[in-house]
Amino acid sequence: MAKIQNADLKDMKGVSDRDKKMIADAETLLGPEPSEMGVVKNFFWGNLREELLFPYPEMDKVSADERRECDELVAKLRVYLKEEHPAVEIDQEQYIPEWVLKKLFDFGVLGMTIPKEYGGLGMGITSYNRVLEALGSRCGSTAVLVSAHQSIGCKAVMLYGTEEQKAEYLPKLAREWLSAFCLSEPQVGCDAGGQETTIELTDDGEHYIVNGEKKWATSGAIAGLFTVMGVQKIDGKDRVTALILTPDMEGVDIFSKNRSKMCIRGTWQARIRFNNVKVPKKNLLHKEGKGLGLALTCLNYGRCTLSAGMLGGAKTAMDQSIKWSQTRHQFGRPISDFELVQQKIAKMSAYCYAMDSMLYMTTGMLDRHDTDIMLETATCKVFCSEMGWRTVDNALQIMGGEGTMAENELERIFRDSRINTIVEGANEVMQSFIFAYGGKQLAEKMLGIKDMADNKKFTPTMIKAALPLGREVFLGIRNKAPSMTKLHPSLSPYGSRMCRLISELTYQFKVISKKKDAAIVTAQVTQARLADAALYLHGWACTLSRLDMDIRNNESGTEFDRNKASAIHFFDLAELAIHDAFRGLHENADDTMLTAAAAALAHSSTLENNLFAIPESSPSDKGTGRELKQDHIKQFPGTGLENAGSTGREHMSETIEQLN
Ligand SMILES: Cc1cc2nc3c(=O)[nH]c(=O)nc-3n(C[C@H](O)[C@H](O)[C@H](O)COP(=O)(O)OP(=O)(O)OC[C@H]3O[C@@H](n4cnc5c(N)ncnc54)[C@H](O)[C@@H]3O)c2cc1C
Repeated sequence: MAKIQNADLKDMKGVSDRDKKMIADAETLLGPEPSEMGVVKNFFWGNLREELLFPYPEMDKVSADERRECDELVAKLRVYLKEEHPAVEIDQEQYIPEWVLKKLFDFGVLGMTIPKEYGGLGMGITSYNRVLEALGSRCGSTAVLVSAHQSIGCKAVMLYGTEEQKAEYLPKLAREWLSAFCLSEPQVGCDAGGQETTIELTDDGEHYIVNGEKKWATSGAIAGLFTVMGVQKIDGKDRVTALILTPDMEGVDIFSKNRSKMCIRGTWQARIRFNNVKVPKKNLLHKEGKGLGLALTCLNYGRCTLSAGMLGGAKTAMDQSIKWSQTRHQFGRPISDFELVQQKIAKMSAYCYAMDSMLYMTTGMLDRHDTDIMLETATCKVFCSEMGWRTVDNALQIMGGEGTMAENELERIFRDSRINTIVEGANEVMQSFIFAYGGKQLAEKMLGIKDMADNKKFTPTMIKAALPLGREVFLGIRNKAPSMTKLHPSLSPYGSRMCRLISELTYQFKVISKKKDAAIVTAQVTQARLADAALYLHGWACTLSRLDMDIRNNESGTEFDRNKASAIHFFDLAELAIHDAFRGLHENADDTMLTAAAAALAHSSTLENNLFAIPESSPSDKGTGRELKQDHIKQFPGTGLENAGSTGREHMSETIEQLN
C-alpha cells in the first residue's frame, strides 16, 4: 500500500524564495523532529497527551535531599533578600555590588545547577527556578544576572562540554566567575541565525580565528568565560559554531561595558569586538556547525528562568496592590469595594496561578528529560512574560499615582518586567514559531494528501487519511474531542471544556490552512491567533493539572480557596480568549490593518531620517539618523580588558568609582 509522503512546505506553490530560505533555516536550526511529539504540538493534531501532564510534576519527585536543600536555600535567600539585598541601590546606581555577587556565589546560587563534582550544588531545573522566582520577587536585575550566567552563559559547557572543558571551567564558574552568552550582534537580534562574527579553522587545524562584534552580552564586562556563536564555512555552507572564549585572549576588546537603560538596570550588557582572536581547537563546544542548535537548547533553559523571575515580580506586585486596595479609601470606602478593581484583582490572581502552574510544569518536563520541549519552553516564555506584564500593569493601575513612586517598588518591577516580552525570543517571533513548529507536521501531511489527490493517486491509504480530513474541512464536522481519564472527578467539567477546544483548534488550523494556502506562510496575524489559542490551551492544561494535585493533596485554607477560584476564573478567561482567537480567523480587521500600516509606512518614508533614532547597523540608512545626545546619561566605558586575566570583575570597581 503506497504510504502518504508528507510534502515539504517549501515546495508549496506561491512561497517566495526568501520565505523558502527562512523555512529551510528554521529546519536546520531545529534539527531532526523528535520521535514523540510534545503536549503543545499534539494540540494542533487535536490530541491531548494526558500522561505528560498528569500527575503534576511535584517537587516531591525530586530526591528528598535535594528538596530539603532547596527549601533551606530558598528560605535563607528570602531572609537575605528581605533584610540585606540592596535592590533599590542596584537599580538606582546601575550596578550589582561585588559583595552581592560574592554572597550569591557563597550561597551556591550562581552554581546551583553545576554538578556537585565540579563544585556546584547539582540541583535540577525546578529547584533552580524556585530560587529564580525568589530573586525575581525582590530584584529583577539580580534574577537576570543569575539567569544570564547559568541558564545561558555557561549552560553549553554543562550540556555539551568535554570532560576537559568541564574540569577546567565548571569549578570556577560555580564559585568565582560569571559567564556571558554572546549571540546578539549589531545586525543580529531576533534573527539569531544571521551571525556575522566569523570563525575560521587555521590551516594546521589547531586553532580557530574569530572576528566580529557582539552586542548586549549580559555580564560580558565582568565575566571570566564567553560562549560565542559565529559563522563557519563548512563544506561551502555557512554554519553556526560555538566556542569558549575568555577575556584574556589577545584580540578581545570590550569597548563598552554597559549602556544606561530603563529596566534591569543593575545588569551590564557589554559590546565586545573580536579582532583575530586565536582560540585553541579544544575550546570548540559540541561540534562544528552545531552552534545554533546549541544556542537554542540553552535558550530553552533561559526561557524558564525568565519566566520564574517574571513570576516572582508579578506575585510581589499582585500582593502589594491587593493589600493597597484594601487600605486605600476613596468615595468613603476601600477601593477594593469597586467592581472594576475586583476585576483586576481576579485577573492578577488568575494569571499568577496559571503562570506558576505552567512554569513548574515546564521545569518538571525539563527535569524528567522529555524529548520534545521546545514548544513548551517557548509557550512558557510567551505566556509568563505576557501575563506577568499584564499583572504588573493591573497592579500599578490599582495603586494609582502612588504606584509610580519609586519607593513603592512597583515602579521598578513595572520597568524591569517590560524587557521580558523582547528578550530570549521576542514574543512575536515565538508566536510564529509556536504556529509553525506546532503545525508543521500536520500541514505537511495535509499537503501530502493534496499532492496525491492532485496527481490522482487515490490509494486506499490516501482515501483513509483524506476522508476524515475532507469531512472536517469541507463539511465542518469536528473530530471527536480527546477524553480525560486522569482528572479528579470534581474537575471534569473544566476538562471537557478544554478537550472540546483542543478539537476545535485542529479544526480551525486545517480550515484556515486550506483557505489561505501558501499565504499562510507569511500571514503572521493568523498564525499568532492559532498560536495564542494553543498557548491558552497549554495554560489551561497546566493549571488544571496543578489544581488536580492541590485537590488530591487535600489542600485547604484561604490560599487554596484563592488558588482554586483563580484557576476556575482562568479557565473562563482562557475560553473567551480562545474563542476570540478563532473568531478573529474569519472575522477581523486585517484588511484595513494592512492598509493602515502601509499608509503609515508610506507617510513615514516622507519624513527625514535625521529627525529620528536610526539603527547604527542599518544596512540601508546607517549614519543618517539624528545624533543621539549622551549628555547626562551615565556612561560605562570599556577599559580595554585585553590583559584582564581571568575575569573583568577586578575592573568593575574602577568603573563604579567613575560612575559615582
Ligand atoms: C537588557 C538586555 C539583555 C540582553 N542580554 C543578552 C545576552 O546576554 N546575550 C545575547 O546574545 N543577547 C542579549 N540581548 C539581546 C536580546 O536577545 C535581543 O534584544 C533580542 O534578541 C531582540 O533583538 P533586537 O533587540 O535586536 O530586536 P530586533 O530583532 O530588531 O526586533 C525588534 C522587534 O521587531 C519585531 N520583530 C523582529 N523580527 C520579527 C519577526 N520575524 N516577526 C515579527 N516581528 C518581528 C519584534 O517586535 C521585535 O521586538 C539582551 C538585550 C537586552 C536589551
